[in-house]
Amino acid sequence: MADAIFSNLPTTIFEEMSGLARRLQAINLGQGFPDDPGPLAIREKAADAVLNGYNQYPPMAGVPELREAVAAHYARAQGLDLDALTEVVITSGATEALAASFLALIEPGDEVIVFQPLYDAYVPLIRRAGGIPKLVRLQPPHWRFDRPILEAAFTDRTRFVVLNNPVNPAGVVLPEADLSLLAEFCVRHDTVAICDEVWEQVVFEGAVHRPLMGFPGMRERCVKIGSAGKMFGLTGWKVGFLCAAPALVHSLARAHQFLTFTTPPNLQAAVAWGLLNSEAWFREMPVALQRSRDRLTDGLRREGFAVLPSQGTYFLNLDLPASGVEEPDRAFALRAVTKAGVASIPVSALYEEAPVTTILRLCFSKRDETLDAGVERLARARDLSRKAAQQVEPPSTTRV
Ligand code: PMP
Ligand code: GLN
Repeated sequence: MADAIFSNLPTTIFEEMSGLARRLQAINLGQGFPDDPGPLAIREKAADAVLNGYNQYPPMAGVPELREAVAAHYARAQGLDLDALTEVVITSGATEALAASFLALIEPGDEVIVFQPLYDAYVPLIRRAGGIPKLVRLQPPHWRFDRPILEAAFTDRTRFVVLNNPVNPAGVVLPEADLSLLAEFCVRHDTVAICDEVWEQVVFEGAVHRPLMGFPGMRERCVKIGSAGKMFGLTGWKVGFLCAAPALVHSLARAHQFLTFTTPPNLQAAVAWGLLNSEAWFREMPVALQRSRDRLTDGLRREGFAVLPSQGTYFLNLDLPASGVEEPDRAFALRAVTKAGVASIPVSALYEEAPVTTILRLCFSKRDETLDAGVERLARARDLSRKAAQQVEPPSTTRV
């Protein structure tokens, strides 16, 4: 009986790597959070709301001004026509929005398509809700699905598909053609898409984020999830948005009320202000991040690392074998953090089965000095990895 209370879920790779980084005082290019403290004006609004605002339970679905601001933002930025009252619910981060969606909508035995590599909360939550994850394995360097892949994944039992776009950890922003294709399959199979679009504002030159909800036939069959944490680089705030047609929102709100019920009202007030005054931030933040991406990419390439392209998110990926690292990603990541003082994320941790073990994810939303030191330490880790490989090679057995 006592055994039953011990979870068999692993500690997430983000906590594991950040924990090691804290303990060993390593540079942390693992878990995705910026060095920058986030927009001052928004933090001042939050502080003011704590001191002078309302600090009791706000309405279950969110404070009205934030729901209005979310609807207005998505109208402006993505051409969506959401009704604030019936189609927007505020949650405690995108993670709670995902949990509420799975708990509200999945019935035991429903098939839920998920694309690997995946955000690590999806599969445990889907299983807990009684769903059967149907894993679709995507691979570097493009990490994209196509018609044959979708033909193989969708069946008559497919009730849901979870789409993360822009894609963490891949750094891909899916083009219109891929989204159209997925929409076609959702319509054909009467499937609801749960769209984790938390990185929607973190998109670089040349790439455009399009919400799946905007595609033909998808307005009524999408749950769109956003996160103020990602929009404003305030990852600890955990203020998320659930947007869907009224019939879906009705169920989602019922699940949300028994998960967290509400989200801190002071943070909601500050995010509402932020969304209405965000023009400069949304213009400048991606430019600054792109500069950091390029600085890290250039530094790594100078050291002979092979870097995959990143069109969005805080992340870029290293191709380890092409960078001269022979050991698998997890072994190299552990060596890098314990012996060279730099934390990263081995992408294999974001596969549920048949992991790709050759890719290391690095977070570039950091100060220049941190990025430069990170490059140096990764190069050291590669030297150590090579030396270790030479030591275990068997001695030459040539007979004379
Ligand atoms: N989905 C994805 C793809 C993410 O990358 C993250 C956080 N990095 C989340 C969900 C969780 O967002 P939140 O912190 O708002 O819960
Ligand atoms: N999504 C963040 C990342 O990819 C981590 C979130 C978390 O720690 N759960 O780094």
